[in-house]
Amino acid sequence: MSELFKAASLARSNIKEMTPYMSARRLGGNGDVWLNANEYPTAPDFQFNERNLNRYPECQPANVILNYAAYAGVSPEEVLVCRGADESIELLIRAFCEPGKDAVMFCPPTYGMYSVSAETFGVEQKKIPSMPDWSLNIDAIRDNLQNTKLIYICSPNNPTGNIIDNKDLVQVLEMAAERALVVVDEAYIEFCPQYSVASWIANYPNLVVLRTLSKAFALAGLRCGFTLASADVIEILLKVIAPYPLSTPVATIAAQALSIEGIATMKHRVATITDNRIALSEALSELPIVEKVYPSETNYILVRFTEANKVFKALWEQGIILRDQSKQLGLTNCLRITIGTETENVRVIEAIEALC
Ligand SMILES: *Cc1c(COP(=O)(O)O)cnc(C)c1O
Repeated sequence: MSELFKAASLARSNIKEMTPYMSARRLGGNGDVWLNANEYPTAPDFQFNERNLNRYPECQPANVILNYAAYAGVSPEEVLVCRGADESIELLIRAFCEPGKDAVMFCPPTYGMYSVSAETFGVEQKKIPSMPDWSLNIDAIRDNLQNTKLIYICSPNNPTGNIIDNKDLVQVLEMAAERALVVVDEAYIEFCPQYSVASWIANYPNLVVLRTLSKAFALAGLRCGFTLASADVIEILLKVIAPYPLSTPVATIAAQALSIEGIATMKHRVATITDNRIALSEALSELPIVEKVYPSETNYILVRFTEANKVFKALWEQGIILRDQSKQLGLTNCLRITIGTETENVRVIEAIEALC
């Protein structure tokens, strides 16, 4: 019997064909300097002595929601907490897109999970390439709105590091009004809080903002993210979310990270990372094998080399793991480098210098 059983023959056809997201962790490597997943380089400290793990957690832990609403400047009804911004990306498709009928739109080069989640659900993808300066192609977005339910816009954009212009966001929100949700992915907004559009939720009922504790809050391992939107949108997402999305330890730690003290610590981290980013960008710009260091508002930089593959491999062999972006649209010879500690950044600079 068992030889006759083929799991693949039972799988949905879109799943059979799909390649999973190659996260930094799945790509592996044998490093001691991990600069490929935009994580914070050192571990934060937390108190944890929860006893009653015999009980199910709250679906939306009140202290986490209240702390996040206060931090983001929105009301608690406008906040959903879940297992990372990645889960938000997926919940939106689950709640708003009919497979075979509706489409999601996004603008490459950008974050890979919009595509992976759409593929998982068998939902059409409209890829509208960014302009050469990585601003949005507003005309192409307008021309492709038919049957589009969700427009994912990453700002600051991963992996390019640029902000999407406010005027362009307003245009997209207005052209999509009453027909599509505009989902602004603000995973890195703590590194440039002045650009957040979270306060626009009051004026644009079709705006959704994605947030995470994985980047500036240094908690990628916790798996905790947020969706900010009008109470109507949040109510719909609550229909499709798992009954207990956050474990009790996750909720306890998230609430601490979002206390006044936790937020102050996060702001110190951001200041340090920003100083290190400026130093790394300046040092790399001097090197002959570096064609361009793109400006960044985040905890990573995108760098175009004369031969990216050579740099990637040489550093990989020394245990310095970067993220190869050269297969993405328009990013030939580009590597993305997460900003690490000062010591880690010096190792990167010395290793690249040695190749010149
Ligand atoms: C890291 C990242 C996410 C995922 O965040 P999690 O909360 O860890 O799931 C979402 N969007 C972008 C652009 C990211 O870089």
